[in-house]
Amino acid sequence: MAKRDYYEVLGVAKNASDEEIKKAYRKLAMKHHPDRNPDSKGAEDKFKEAKEAYEMLSDAQKREAYDRYGHAGVDPNVGAGGGFGGGGNFADAFGDIFGDIFGASARGGRSGPQVYRGADLRYNLEITLEQAANGFDTSIRVPTWDSCDTCHGSGAKPGTSPTTCTTCGGHGQVRMQQGFFSIQQTCPKCHGTGKISPEPCPTCSGAGRIKRNKTLEVKIPAGIDDGMRIRSSGNGEPGTNGGPPGDLYVEIHIKQHAVFQRDGDDLHCEMPISYATAALGGEIEVPTLGGKVSFTVPEGTQSGKTFRLRSKGIKGVRSGYPGDLFCHVVVETPVKLTDRQKDLLREFEQLTVEGGARHSPQSKSWKDKVKEFFE
Ligand SMILES: [Zn+2]
Ligand SMILES: [Zn+2]
Repeated sequence: MAKRDYYEVLGVAKNASDEEIKKAYRKLAMKHHPDRNPDSKGAEDKFKEAKEAYEMLSDAQKREAYDRYGHAGVDPNVGAGGGFGGGGNFADAFGDIFGDIFGASARGGRSGPQVYRGADLRYNLEITLEQAANGFDTSIRVPTWDSCDTCHGSGAKPGTSPTTCTTCGGHGQVRMQQGFFSIQQTCPKCHGTGKISPEPCPTCSGAGRIKRNKTLEVKIPAGIDDGMRIRSSGNGEPGTNGGPPGDLYVEIHIKQHAVFQRDGDDLHCEMPISYATAALGGEIEVPTLGGKVSFTVPEGTQSGKTFRLRSKGIKGVRSGYPGDLFCHVVVETPVKLTDRQKDLLREFEQLTVEGGARHSPQSKSWKDKVKEFFE
């Protein structure tokens, strides 16, 4: 049979632009795509023909040779773009246009069920700040899937055997049309196995496997932070058709602490001190994750002052260095005072006023600012 003219194949004029050629090819390729016409030999041939024409005419050099010498000037079986001879499958025939649309799923698997990696699982683990800081070993209950003893994994009732899934023809995948694109999906009927049991196994309902729970030992490293994940390789869902299992991710959630707030490897806490301690200074006890430590509050400490205790934070799981502890001073106003306490405070206030602004540096600077503001 004589070869058709490449321009005729694509239905474009001899002087068509590259863009017109590409557009024409895309249209034809979509129409005759083998995945859309699974059993049509005619479509397959048309697809190949269009593909060849496009490859020749989209290459400036080849197009020139073709324009000058016709089919004699170009040989599609020679050079980078050619090669349909022999057992070349459709995946090889897909050019740059289709590579990005159909991706890897268009390749292989046309002769049998696809092999899938199992899904990843996530386990949310809530831990305390102390556990996060020091690390600890724990065990968690996670699902696991065992091959069904009754059917030995086939999913078929003993005495019957599974048949090829009619929905996907045994491929394990079906194509869904979404506008311009054809999307490949796991077959909803056979769940990708390509097989259907006419009489499902009563023990596993045809799944071929039974979900159980197992205990998994998990080592939480010291310094782990909220939202971090620990991967347990191969402990996810099993793969399909012999595919590898997914992974299990243990995601860390740290409970709110009564005293400390964490910020990376640093810790923050409020430190209430009495009015007298703030004024006179003195030794107080400060909580840390490692126990109480004593701390000397300097004379004349103001409310809101922050003291930094170096290396009393959390040793980071990544950095390996401990963060700091920031103590935020809150000067407490005394309440429920006795008459004597009130008398002493009134006397104290009298002396403070007489002593002038030097006793209240903040108040003085504030008054100055207010004065400036009103002037
Ligand atoms: Zn079974
Ligand atoms: Zn199926």
